[in-house]
Amino acid sequence: MKIVDARVIVTCPDRNFVTLKIITSSGVYGVGDATLNGRELSVAAYLSEHVVPALIGRDASRIEDTWQYLYRGAYWRRGPVTMSAVAAVDTALWDIKGKVAGLPVYQLLGGRSREGVTVYGHANAASTDEVLSEIADYVELGYKAVRVQTGVPGLESTYGVGKDRMFYEPADAALPTENAWSTAHYLEHVPTVFARVREEFGPTLRLLHDVHHRLTPIEAARLGKSLEPYHLTWMEDPVPAELQEGFRLIRQHTTTPIAVGEVFNTIWDCRQLITEQLIDYVRATVVHAGGITHLRRIFDLAALHHVRSGSHGATDLSPVCMAAALHLDLAIPNFGLQEYMRHTPATDAVFPHGYHFADGYLHPSEEPGLGVDIDEEEAARYPYRPASLPVNRLQDGTMHDW
Ligand SMILES: [Mg+2]
Repeated sequence: MKIVDARVIVTCPDRNFVTLKIITSSGVYGVGDATLNGRELSVAAYLSEHVVPALIGRDASRIEDTWQYLYRGAYWRRGPVTMSAVAAVDTALWDIKGKVAGLPVYQLLGGRSREGVTVYGHANAASTDEVLSEIADYVELGYKAVRVQTGVPGLESTYGVGKDRMFYEPADAALPTENAWSTAHYLEHVPTVFARVREEFGPTLRLLHDVHHRLTPIEAARLGKSLEPYHLTWMEDPVPAELQEGFRLIRQHTTTPIAVGEVFNTIWDCRQLITEQLIDYVRATVVHAGGITHLRRIFDLAALHHVRSGSHGATDLSPVCMAAALHLDLAIPNFGLQEYMRHTPATDAVFPHGYHFADGYLHPSEEPGLGVDIDEEEAARYPYRPASLPVNRLQDGTMHDW
């Protein structure tokens, strides 16, 4: 079964997505997500200029060999653009293998290790009062875990706070908008939010908070300590992770669990974090970390060191990635949590899928393969629109991490 064609499809139903569709000589095809938020066309070009020509004529059943060919075979390897392209090919080949075998992909990965995939939703609001009402909405929908973000008094805009209720899309303009940031205001405010949330919702609702790489290790240690009474499931991305040993300092000071890694692309980005047990959850995703093949390798390493999965799952990955993530989440022994932001109806129409939410869990499709497709006619109705993530400056104008 040879690969006879591969198409790169860019579409923008409310936001941009890049999808690779691989077609085989037997007529079976597979889909893979290649979306890299704010940098979509660079992955599309990497695929169509460099990867697709090399795929034609290859044996579609050779998933591992194709992965090694695209990774080791690229002298300039790793990085988000390359690894998202590799991920798209890998995901599409797993979809094809499942369809050929007549099995959902999780069965090819060893079968289910649990009944459903526990997901968390995003409660985002300008004020603490408003965020309490949004958390109540998620609890009402059946969610067992909620990420909580609020505006910070004294700052006009804050990461993680959307304009719409129950939806959040940060890529809000063709060129980056600018946010202002004050660590002092933030560190004072966040513990007061979680005090109110615990008072309102009691001790067992799982709560998460995303710091979005905005602190130094000692500041993150202070935040973790001040949040200890509220028993968070995790404090996410407390500091940028280029310096992996920087997490040791946070660890020495707080028992608040740490999740990191939505921007990681390979096992090398988290090797030290995992083997030295400096984190509790690794947030790498199928689309940005080399597909099912490589992400499973990361999770296997994590399993040896008491680290669980906690994959990124915002709307900047398409339903194709979400479908793939659910098959992996269902199969691995060390699953932790899966982020889940619902896509808009227009996106769902472009990507018909069989996964579904019920009582706090997502369940992958039982159809052969990934159980997700792309409607190319529907996709063609939504041409690409440039959209960038914001940038972030301290109040004195210094560039800071977004
Ligand atoms: Mg995050």
